[in-house]
Amino acid sequence: MGIRDDIRTHTDELVAIRRDLHMHPELGFEEFRTADIIETYLTDLGLDPKRMAKTGMVATLTGTAPGAESGPTLMLRADIDALPIQELTDLPYKSQNDGRMHACGHDAHTAMLMIAAKILVARKNEISGRVKFLFQPNEEVAGAEIMIEAGCLENPSVDAAMGIHIWTPLPSGTIAATPGGVMATMVPFRIVITGKGGHTGYPELAVDPIIAAADLIQTAQRLQTRDISLLTPTALVFSKIESGSKNNIIPDQVVLEGTVRFLYEPAANQEPVERLEEIVASVCAVHKCTYEMSSFTQNTVVMNDPGMAQLVRDVAREIVDDEAKILDHRSMAGEDFAAYARRVPAVFAFVGTADPAKGSDLPHHSPRFAIDESTMPTGVELFVRTALRYFEESNNRARDGKEER
Ligand SMILES: [Zn+2]
Ligand SMILES: [Zn+2]
Repeated sequence: MGIRDDIRTHTDELVAIRRDLHMHPELGFEEFRTADIIETYLTDLGLDPKRMAKTGMVATLTGTAPGAESGPTLMLRADIDALPIQELTDLPYKSQNDGRMHACGHDAHTAMLMIAAKILVARKNEISGRVKFLFQPNEEVAGAEIMIEAGCLENPSVDAAMGIHIWTPLPSGTIAATPGGVMATMVPFRIVITGKGGHTGYPELAVDPIIAAADLIQTAQRLQTRDISLLTPTALVFSKIESGSKNNIIPDQVVLEGTVRFLYEPAANQEPVERLEEIVASVCAVHKCTYEMSSFTQNTVVMNDPGMAQLVRDVAREIVDDEAKILDHRSMAGEDFAAYARRVPAVFAFVGTADPAKGSDLPHHSPRFAIDESTMPTGVELFVRTALRYFEESNNRARDGKEER
């Protein structure tokens, strides 16, 4: 049976798994029910899943094709966590957990990788190496690093990695795999501007932090268009302002929060967050205020390896009927898959799932978020075909190497 027919016979199961997970969403590192389901499923496939980082799961399939024992290890990754959102859809399988929702599509990723595991186990005689299936908790708050600390890239050590996101910004039927930065570095920041409170009738006797904050919000925008090349996407957004108690009182402090995002590895003198702090210091000095600024890097940029991205594009050509449906796509959203991509050659691909007729064109993290389930088999096919092609190509490389010697 061809791969696509094989997947077609598992479509009902794929949808059923996804809907069950959708009904029972769990937050990061609390995915106990989800982990149990994955563990049982992988065990029934004859694999030996290992728990990691509380609710993470790793299972390795060793192929039976010649050279498998000494062949490379490809890691396929799905994230499994949900979000603290009250679901507002009318779907018959909507969330049954109050204030919890699979509003990013990780339920689909989990189901897709489970079915991909089933199909690859059945095709292990085509695998001249190992496939490591990684089910990762807490993507929304950088769970990948915790899995890596727990050893998910070792025993056997991983040579390459692939992840997929079902993606509502792209139309159903499309696949995107783009070399270079595809999802952004994300740095949340907090700035506390301190002046000296007073009477709005005597502003000259006070030090007004509000006018400093207003100036800062304006002046800081130069970061994106004047300090850093327009060809290197940078997004500075203030998302929270807190200050004041009454209309005739100048407050002591303003607290500003927001994020800086960028899609590149910054040069030493072009680090956007350092540049932001220089602007904060200058603006506060003008307004006679002091400041404290804190920030942390939640995700670094997801850098797709050019060879791995090409591999997925070649495979995508076998899946979609039209070259125009293979897209280049980059997003300013963050994704902790970056942690793997920093350590091994990796590719993070998008499977488009937007169909306005099905209401699946809403942003990720919306309380009405929905996916087009008919795009899930494409995700399975992309996992399966990429894995098989990866081993085929590494075999060819090994053979060419031998012939040269
Ligand atoms: Zn998300
Ligand atoms: Zn996500």
